[in-house]
Amino acid sequence: MKPDVLVDVLVIGGGNAALCAALMAREAGASVLLLEAAPRAWRGGNSQHTRNIRCMHDAPQDVLVEAYPEEEYWQDLLKVTGGQTDETLARMAIRASSNCRDWMRKHGVRFQPSLSGTLHVARTNAFFMGGGKALVNAYYRSAEALGVQVRYDAPVDALELDNGRFVAARIGSERIQARTCVLACGGFESNIAWQREAWGEVNGEWPADNFLIRGTRYNMGVLLKFMMGAGADIIGDPTQSHCVAIDARAPLYDGGICTRVDCVSLGIMVNRNAVRFYDEGEDFWPKRYAIWGRLVAQQPGQIGYSIIDSRAIGRFMPPVFPGVKADSLPELARKLGLDETIFMRTVNEFNAACRVGTFDHAVLDDCHTEGLTPAKTHWATPIEQGPFFAYALRPGITFTYLGLKIDTRSRVHFGGVASDNLFVAGEMMAGNVLGKGYTAGVGMAIGTAFGRIAGVEAAKAAMTAASQQKGQQRGAERATA
Ligand SMILES: Cc1cc2nc3c(=O)[nH]c(=O)nc-3n(C[C@H](O)[C@H](O)[C@H](O)COP(=O)(O)OP(=O)(O)OC[C@H]3O[C@@H](n4cnc5c(N)ncnc54)[C@H](O)[C@@H]3O)c2cc1C
Repeated sequence: MKPDVLVDVLVIGGGNAALCAALMAREAGASVLLLEAAPRAWRGGNSQHTRNIRCMHDAPQDVLVEAYPEEEYWQDLLKVTGGQTDETLARMAIRASSNCRDWMRKHGVRFQPSLSGTLHVARTNAFFMGGGKALVNAYYRSAEALGVQVRYDAPVDALELDNGRFVAARIGSERIQARTCVLACGGFESNIAWQREAWGEVNGEWPADNFLIRGTRYNMGVLLKFMMGAGADIIGDPTQSHCVAIDARAPLYDGGICTRVDCVSLGIMVNRNAVRFYDEGEDFWPKRYAIWGRLVAQQPGQIGYSIIDSRAIGRFMPPVFPGVKADSLPELARKLGLDETIFMRTVNEFNAACRVGTFDHAVLDDCHTEGLTPAKTHWATPIEQGPFFAYALRPGITFTYLGLKIDTRSRVHFGGVASDNLFVAGEMMAGNVLGKGYTAGVGMAIGTAFGRIAGVEAAKAAMTAASQQKGQQRGAERATA
């Protein structure tokens, strides 16, 4: 057995939230040990797959155009969460997003203007040069230069707690003591068995069996489950997650951003029975892409097919892998293994119901269907000009929202009482702000804000504990002298 180690701040996790916490704690003068479950090559959790952070700003700022004031950001969050958000914590994350970029730059993160495409986010989101992988690498470089100790292949399986206080972490038989601890080990999205339990059986099927995980395989929710068992206060619903319809050919884990398919609003979506099931033109794609994973999850076999004709080509970011191509619609149905007769009826009914006005994908245009259920309310134009293309899509889970309840100091709570040395950041507490829904870039905004807060608070608590310990030692020495 390895000897016990004692550091000021133990950070469990190796993604954005963990790194922000580790850097802030180290900058505050604490000794820091970071434990990452993944091997070095796979370090960085879901954060390695990210592209941007949503930032509040009152005037144009470096890579951000125009303004995105606090109130608008808050209203956007309120809308997507349907009010399932803690306003105080949400506003903290929003405000912190306005001034975190200089600190991020100091630690090596570089920004670039947004790319053009389906997501119109040049005003709201600052993009990381080199993506999340470069961000994570920069933070690790900076952390190591500052003296943060990092251990890879270090999956913590349990904690030792004493009346709501952190005592030690365990990796098998190894025990790691610290004065304070920050939990930043993601949600439970990688744990298919837990997803299966949460989603249950629907119409004789287990939807979670057909889920793909867009990010890391290491967010198994081991410590989330442990903390639930230990009586920590929990927030969120286990079935709520950010869930996108992604290319069905994506690998089970780590497909990342390149598995996105952004043409749904330009055509129709049918299920395995070759029928439509939702309004593809309800709203702009950036506001709707995150509902389609759940919609596909509710279809038989958890699969959907996005169908477009040649006029859609060039109007969306081309997916990495080409779609299924056919010169005629019946041929497309055959290639997809769909019932040709039903498929043709679906397309013909849709085409006949289209009332085409002035097509404009940049606005909520007047091209819509009439007398069709479900309706397509914008960008409805007949699918008639070959060649035709189709993409098979499956639910792609980004991250889950079940987490630990916190206060403004990112402290873990037990029965409403805050722990004085156990903190949490990132996906593991994102449910405080995101009860449901999502708006692009807010995951990194929450993780950065509360990762930094947790780091500062953990360092402060560790310093207080260290000086109390010294005081007690001096007292004991005087008593024995
Ligand atoms: C494909 C994809 C694209 C995304 N794009 C964006 C985007 O552009 N903008 C945005 O804001 N959000 C985006 N997100 C969401 C974003 O990734 C998360 O909100 C954010 O990265 C969460 O950070 P985190 O540090 O909490 O979790 P993670 O980055 O997932 O880190 C969790 C870490 O904990 C480690 N870990 C897990 N269990 C243990 C354990 N028991 N012991 C030790 N370590 C453990 C993992 O290995 C991992 O390093 C995206 C997610 C995905 C999957």
